[in-house]
Amino acid sequence: MSVAAVVGCGWGDEGKGKIVDALAAERRARLVIRFNGGPNAGHTVVPEVEGAEVPPWNRAVFRLHQVPSGIFTPGCTSLCGPGTVIDPDGLLEELAELEAHGVETGQILLSDRAHVVFPLHRERDRLLEAAREGLKQGTTLRGVGPAYEDKMARIGIRLGDLLDGEYLDEYLPFLAEEQSRRLGALGGSAVDATELRALCERWVEQLRDRIVDSYPLVRDTLRSGGFVVLEGQLGAMKDIDWGTYPFVTSSGATAAAGAATCGVPPGAVSEVIGVVKAFATTVGGGPFVTELFDAAAEALRSLGETETEHEYGATTGRPRRCGWFDAVAARQAAAINGCTALALTKLDALDGIPEVPIARAYELDGQTIDYVPSSTRRLERAKPVYEALPGWGAPAREVREWRALPAEARAYAERIEALTEVPVEYAGTGPSRLALARRVRR
Ligand code: GDP
Repeated sequence: MSVAAVVGCGWGDEGKGKIVDALAAERRARLVIRFNGGPNAGHTVVPEVEGAEVPPWNRAVFRLHQVPSGIFTPGCTSLCGPGTVIDPDGLLEELAELEAHGVETGQILLSDRAHVVFPLHRERDRLLEAAREGLKQGTTLRGVGPAYEDKMARIGIRLGDLLDGEYLDEYLPFLAEEQSRRLGALGGSAVDATELRALCERWVEQLRDRIVDSYPLVRDTLRSGGFVVLEGQLGAMKDIDWGTYPFVTSSGATAAAGAATCGVPPGAVSEVIGVVKAFATTVGGGPFVTELFDAAAEALRSLGETETEHEYGATTGRPRRCGWFDAVAARQAAAINGCTALALTKLDALDGIPEVPIARAYELDGQTIDYVPSSTRRLERAKPVYEALPGWGAPAREVREWRALPAEARAYAERIEALTEVPVEYAGTGPSRLALARRVRR
């Protein structure tokens, strides 16, 4: 069995989509399973193929919201796993866009255990966030949190339920009443069972063939020795248990969560690739120890050659909060994930910066600490302890061989490796699938 998990070791937006796409293409993955989250995702992928015959989508920039990043690998099934929540209308739009670019979408399947995000979830998200006033979490307002809430409250609708009209007829009147009560408490409007039923009917017509029980698929792929990738969304610092609670996502974002939700035995995951960006970014509220402000933040935000590389959310367009690399957070994230390797993305974005600081510890209430405190209020008081490394004058951009990287860029990666205690095996040097320098060790 050969399973790799690709997970964020920051706050999300580390470039997981690119790493999954590159890995899937290079190792001819048979199955890529996105294991958590929903339409709040925004994995940017720039698939590129070299040679005489290139597909029509070559080098196009795709922002995948719900579709797994295995979609550009021929012969690979892309599954939205049992632990995801699916917004069917959003998904249908995404499929249409992919098809318009000539991408073959027949390989996209949806677990019948995944939960459905209804418009009422978006409404609840909006009303709840508005009610929080000064305590806003900065959610993407896509209804993801409320859909997970309903899953845990055991009142949600799973994709598989859409296939069972009799069950829907029986259940939806109760659900409409329950949801009206919840929305009503927030000042929202009532939910109509007939409208819910009509939505379900339309969705099942459009998605029926994609909804599968993923167990036999996963089991058989593992048995046959096919390469499987578990694709995480967000990062450990936004994980429901290990993130900066309550400024977190509503699902598990670690490799273990990936194995658990996908029905993959934990022992079968032989590689855990933690994706970290060469500098730190986050969206939404919550403590962010290495955060920079004003012009310094803007300077990091606008690094990169093209607009899509700039640090604005792929789903929401919101400017991301930016700061220097936080090795304390990365080390903890790598440890709880059991990372066997790190992929350091956007190394090229730091090209030309004279000095690159790394936070190697935190100073908190007069003490130096080397872990991320669980209390968000304590974390807010933490100050970064920096060490500065020299920048690199020569460009790392588009370099595809480790030894061809500027020496200072290699030294930066090696210092991150020492501080996180995990080997950096990949360095990202541009948005394309091929802009990746792999480290080959003897
Ligand atoms: P994800 O959600 O973790 O997949 O990350 P996002 O797609 O939200 O954000 C990563 C951004 O960085 C996207 O715009 C990618 O195209 C871009 N990116 C990823 N890796 C690299 C890299 O090595 N260099 C550069 N310049 N951009 C990269």
